[in-house]
Amino acid sequence: MNRLSVKEILDLSGKVAMVTGANRGLGKAIAEVFAEAGVSVGLLARNEDNLKKTIDQLRNHGAQCLALTADVGKEGQVKKAVEDIVNKFGRLDILVNNAGQISPGPLAEIDPPMWNRIIQTNLTGAYLCSRYAAPLMQRQMQGRIINISSVSAQTGRVSGGVHYSASKGGMLAMNKTLARDLAPYNVNVNAIAPGQIETSGARLTYDARREIEQMIPLKRLGKAEDIAYAALFLASPMAEYITGATLDVNGGILKR
Ligand code: NDP
Repeated sequence: MNRLSVKEILDLSGKVAMVTGANRGLGKAIAEVFAEAGVSVGLLARNEDNLKKTIDQLRNHGAQCLALTADVGKEGQVKKAVEDIVNKFGRLDILVNNAGQISPGPLAEIDPPMWNRIIQTNLTGAYLCSRYAAPLMQRQMQGRIINISSVSAQTGRVSGGVHYSASKGGMLAMNKTLARDLAPYNVNVNAIAPGQIETSGARLTYDARREIEQMIPLKRLGKAEDIAYAALFLASPMAEYITGATLDVNGGILKR
């Protein structure tokens, strides 16, 4: 057999990842699934206590991981986080730009500081992490960047949150251009556009939940693992010929 076996495809031992926004929600699930596949993971977030708790859980399962306390919107902190990963693990193969703040609200209530805060975290954060991770991947002639966008970048939100959907739409545009720029270096850049996923960052009232579930063809909200498995696929040899794509993980609410 001159192809990798399925077992080999899902064994990412020796790979090193940086997952942003990894102390809860989708980022935590992605870090867990990566660690299970043998990846050494740098977990980045601002809240150090939550980060330590997450890392303790992962280490109990034998994972190699590193806490990176940083704000993705602050260049110096991102630069240091990437340096810390390389000092600890010697390389960086996978970057998951997941850190983000979900923010609703009508236009009149989105003042310039709030606009800037969401763009700074959700879009500038992904740019800064990519800016410091990409040169390492280019030198290695191999790497993966995975951008966690949102279905609201594709359809617009049901109402409000123009700053949020703009940040996630910017991410999809960046995804395509970066994919083209990094392709000569064998660095694949792809996005995931989650639908409504159950996390503490996306809490719903009972009524809103029921209403949304009825709108989703698969009749349930997504689970953090639904996104984590998609990220593992994009990080694995299975996705070697995929770049510049957006993977819709939304229960069928948007079909393209
Ligand atoms: P959560 O609010 O549960 O988690 C957000 C994570 O990002 C936390 O780890 C948080 O840690 C971190 N974070 C927030 N701001 C910063 C910052 N400035 N610097 C570093 N880390 C930061 O959100 P979800 O897990 O639900 O969402 C994760 C991503 O998925 C987001 O980008 C979100 O927009 C996107 N998404 C989520 C959907 C959903 O339905 N849940 C749907 C579509 C997209 P800390 O606060 O400690 O820094």
